[in-house]
Amino acid sequence: MTARLLEGKFFANAIKEEAGRRAAAFEEKYGVVPGLAVIIVGEDPASQVYVRNKRRSCEKVGLYSREVALPADTPKEKLLSIIDELNADPKIHGILLQLPLPKALDPYENEFLNRIDPAKDVDGFHPVNVGRLVIGEPGLTPCTPAGCMKMLELAGIDIDGKNAVVIGRSNIVGKPMMLMLMKKNATVTVCHSHTQDLPSVTRRADILVAAVGRPHFVTADMVKPGAVVIDVGINRIAPKKLVGDVDFDAVKEVAGAITPVPGGVGLLTVAMLMDNVVRAAEIQQNNK
Ligand code: NAD
Repeated sequence: MTARLLEGKFFANAIKEEAGRRAAAFEEKYGVVPGLAVIIVGEDPASQVYVRNKRRSCEKVGLYSREVALPADTPKEKLLSIIDELNADPKIHGILLQLPLPKALDPYENEFLNRIDPAKDVDGFHPVNVGRLVIGEPGLTPCTPAGCMKMLELAGIDIDGKNAVVIGRSNIVGKPMMLMLMKKNATVTVCHSHTQDLPSVTRRADILVAAVGRPHFVTADMVKPGAVVIDVGINRIAPKKLVGDVDFDAVKEVAGAITPVPGGVGLLTVAMLMDNVVRAAEIQQNNK
């Protein structure tokens, strides 16, 4: 059996087109283009690529974007005051602090993230937005799991009543993914590094989400025939070779549907960021 390939590009384009339509409608109604500010501290090459991709996506969708590039030795107070300025800037509706931060600032990561106005928190990391997700109130939600959910919806994959297994319990992917699947009435199991006999759990999954950060971690014997397998992992195994957490070649013969890496969930993440910027602008307008 060969699984249906869930290509990120197709779903990402659909999400971006919709975000573009809403951004244009917002501009027409309120005379302001929804805007994103990305703060990048230091010169991490991978972060620079991610920031460039975000800027290009903003251009494509028709959003205003601003990059705030700061040197690695930026003092903590300076970064906090820049976040304050962006919080008060009416041209900026979404603020994203590119992670990881340089070593000296890393211990204060939560302090910086918590300083971002929850209404402009397009990463969905602020405790206020996390709390809203937990209690099922609308708000800004983390882009990667939100992108996976949007893909399931657009692909017509039924979630209600299904067994979903999420491998990984991070705040960025695993936990919000669990909450989003639960909200859509899946029976959700979350596995992590202390889970016993992982394959016996994953084999029960109708929907299996891998967010571990280990190449080829999910093997064919861990997958129920016909399952939907979403590979969130991004692992660099050679200078120009990225692979996911799933042993794609073997698992595609067992699964019913599968996302590739590269070309899968990563593209959805950037697309959902665009969606979140427009949503943030709409939320701020409603709050006025
Ligand atoms: P993380 O390191 O914060 O979390 C990894 C999780 O895997 C942990 O909860 C841990 O308990 C679990 N884990 C580790 N070993 C395990 C084992 N043997 N059995 C079961 N569980 C185990 O990572 P993260 O931030 O959640 O990211 C996970 C992966 O997703 C990484 O490869 C990351 O690069 C990728 N990622 C991709 C996107 C995207 O846009 N596609 C976005 C965010 C993260």
